[in-house]
Amino acid sequence: MSDRREFIKKAGIISGAIGILNYGCGSGNGRERKSKSSKNMILRFKPYEIELKHVFAIAGNSRRSTPVMLTEIEFDGIIGYGEASMPPYLGESHETVSNFLQKVDLSKFADPFLMEDILDYIDNIAPGNYAAKASIDIALHDLVGKIINQPWHRIWGLNPDKTPHTSFTIGIDTPDVVRVKVGEASEFKILKVKLGQYNDKEMVETIRSVTDVPLCVDVNQGWTDKNVALDMINWLNERNVLFVEQPMPKELIDDHAWLTERSPLPVIADEAVQTISDIKSVYGAYSGINIKLMKCGGMRSAFKMINTARALDMKVMIGCMTETSCAISAATQLSPLVDWADLDGNLLISNDVFDGVTVKEGKLVLNNRAGVGVMKIS
Ligand code: MG
Repeated sequence: MSDRREFIKKAGIISGAIGILNYGCGSGNGRERKSKSSKNMILRFKPYEIELKHVFAIAGNSRRSTPVMLTEIEFDGIIGYGEASMPPYLGESHETVSNFLQKVDLSKFADPFLMEDILDYIDNIAPGNYAAKASIDIALHDLVGKIINQPWHRIWGLNPDKTPHTSFTIGIDTPDVVRVKVGEASEFKILKVKLGQYNDKEMVETIRSVTDVPLCVDVNQGWTDKNVALDMINWLNERNVLFVEQPMPKELIDDHAWLTERSPLPVIADEAVQTISDIKSVYGAYSGINIKLMKCGGMRSAFKMINTARALDMKVMIGCMTETSCAISAATQLSPLVDWADLDGNLLISNDVFDGVTVKEGKLVLNNRAGVGVMKIS
């Protein structure tokens, strides 16, 4: 422990240039400024493509893989890991994240513990780019947690026994494939079903033909008429559904307020709320919000959003994109604070590069590893 204190003390007086090492982008536009001192923060990033076990269909699109950017911040021999996941419908890509990360110059900061200053600087480099920002935020949290040798749920004072069960998503598909997917998900105590297409009732009836576990419903803005939406929610309410996520297009704030007032189930905003500044626009129109690190820019912002929503007496769920265990483990550090978790993104992929949080009988299990709780496995 004394070594660690000594390290922290020294870290506080370090100054000097930062090294930014960009590898593997294949564009030749990366720059390398290796520092002479070992006590500079060094940012590295590498594009990666995560492969999905099943074609993933939601209302509006389907895909077989998702681009991610794997980031590292190294400081005095300690490496913090981060990740940006870029599903195409959110507008970020390997190229945009690479362009953003090349603008990051951490040489302004001698001390990784100046997290508020560092992350304010990252936020102000350019608007948007939330997945890119999350990749820095997660890596910085991982690094700082490792320096003080504590996982973030302990730093925040959260009880690891209070992690929720995670839902497991069943994508839109034919009844035969849906039954196979539900069979593979028998460990999970809550399933999430993607609706908003022509076969909503068939999807739910198919799942109900093989399991009675509670369902979360995510419509991904797929219903366009508030009366039809209310009829569907009343029908779902008789089939052990916990809540309905983003039933209609996000622009229909008044229609969502009308629906939430009448709905027997909580109505949760996902596409309608990205960052903390969106909470005021959905307050009163939805029962709660779905927070995702890739939407809001990372763990710092997610923590603030949870506290803001709670102050407004709103429900909170924490969700994800298809991600490796790095970003999923980072989100799970916050999960003792939420009502519902939808953190199955790493379980849907076949080429994870991290070992992190696990799921036991459907419940998220935090480990005691420092930082966000991951170990690189490839
Ligand atoms: Mg959603």
